[in-house]
Amino acid sequence: MVKRFVSELLEENTYVVELAGRVFVVDPGEGASSFVEQIAGKTRVTVLITHAHADHFCSLQNLNYDCLFLHRLEKVSLMSPEKHLGNYLDISSLDVKSHQICELDDLPSPWSYIHTPGHTPGSVCFELKGDILFTGDTVFSDAIGRTDLPGGSDEKMRSTLTALKKHFAENPHLNILPGHGPESTASKILVRNPYFRAL
Ligand SMILES: [Zn+2]
Ligand SMILES: [Zn+2]
Repeated sequence: MVKRFVSELLEENTYVVELAGRVFVVDPGEGASSFVEQIAGKTRVTVLITHAHADHFCSLQNLNYDCLFLHRLEKVSLMSPEKHLGNYLDISSLDVKSHQICELDDLPSPWSYIHTPGHTPGSVCFELKGDILFTGDTVFSDAIGRTDLPGGSDEKMRSTLTALKKHFAENPHLNILPGHGPESTASKILVRNPYFRAL
């Protein structure tokens, strides 16, 4: 159901999810468009972005998509190469038409989201109810995302991790699919990830 593509740029993960005849793409990273096309064919995809850093959406303009879901606090960064780090990553010409942006409250079931600020103000984790959590750059298998980039906050990250710790304890079988690196599970992260152990 979920297929992963790893980009060369920053080894970011692109996830393609097939659900009830629809194809969803979580964080379309560098060079991911042909991978997505192999799965989706001519079907229009729906895109979910955990946060607006360019490494997590730079394939967007090459995708045939109907809707782009991201937190409203990330919309500004989507258009700003200083904020989405496109300048730094040498990706400056990103074309996102505002009418293609959809509100997170309109996410189709069984998708839901958790607002997880810290890495960026509008970072979110996307959940496929009780089964998979796509954590972007908020939580990795053995680490967490940086808080020293524009819009990052140590304090917000601490509250986010506290809330996620509770969520992980209540859903130990949740598969954790991060924006970079290997997948894990909620129970493994609680035991092995030093940032959760230290809470
Ligand atoms: Zn990031
Ligand atoms: Zn990243």
